[in-house]
Amino acid sequence: MFAAHRFFQRLVRFFLALFLPERCPLCREEPPADGSPDMFCKTCLLSMQFIHGKPCPVCGGDINGIFEICPDCLAEPERHWEHAYAVFRYNEGAAAAIRRFKYGNDIALVRPLGRLLAGVIEQPELYSEIVPVPLHWLRFLQRGYNQSVLLGEELSRWTKIPVARRLKRVRNTKHQAFLEKEDRKKNIKGAFVVRRPEQIKGKRILLLDDVMTTGSTLAECAKILTKAGAIVDVAVIARRQTR
Ligand SMILES: [Zn+2]
Ligand SMILES: [Zn+2]
Repeated sequence: MFAAHRFFQRLVRFFLALFLPERCPLCREEPPADGSPDMFCKTCLLSMQFIHGKPCPVCGGDINGIFEICPDCLAEPERHWEHAYAVFRYNEGAAAAIRRFKYGNDIALVRPLGRLLAGVIEQPELYSEIVPVPLHWLRFLQRGYNQSVLLGEELSRWTKIPVARRLKRVRNTKHQAFLEKEDRKKNIKGAFVVRRPEQIKGKRILLLDDVMTTGSTLAECAKILTKAGAIVDVAVIARRQTR
């Protein structure tokens, strides 16, 4: 009886979805900008700040000055990747979308986020795989999903680059958000290992995370991937610059 009831509910929802207009996955009020569930509405898009013009090649953020790279990257010479892509500045609008995707179980947000990220990857055919930054299994159990893997799968849908779970987190770490820059580096050191490193020798891979702040986590992952012989570029949804 119960199963029949559930089935009927699903059937009703299925038919309603056929006739009701699509809603923006973020505000659930306005229709998506292009009518597809892979996009936010115009109001939500306007609340986010896209990185315009020529971005900083090292972090994907804004140049913010007269040099070839941004002040954050000038102050941080130790990046173990070559090039980075970011969609947004980490302003309130972008932060709200990312937080809800990451902690609010709002998995529908992955579709527009993945699509927008795919739009900034210049030559997807260069990459042999997308490597999401992994969660420790304890945090995975708390959250029930790894947002970077979901994002990777969505990015893969648009770019056709396969996703590989190349990194394994061998140590749980404190939340990076609560730590100063130097402590972040120490906190994350040795937290990951590369699975089957021989498979990525000489390959160009796209390392993926949701936000880049100081870049300590990405730098640690990129370091061990380059040690295995890979060439690493980075993709994030938002870049949070400090200078
Ligand atoms: Zn909206
Ligand atoms: Zn930069």
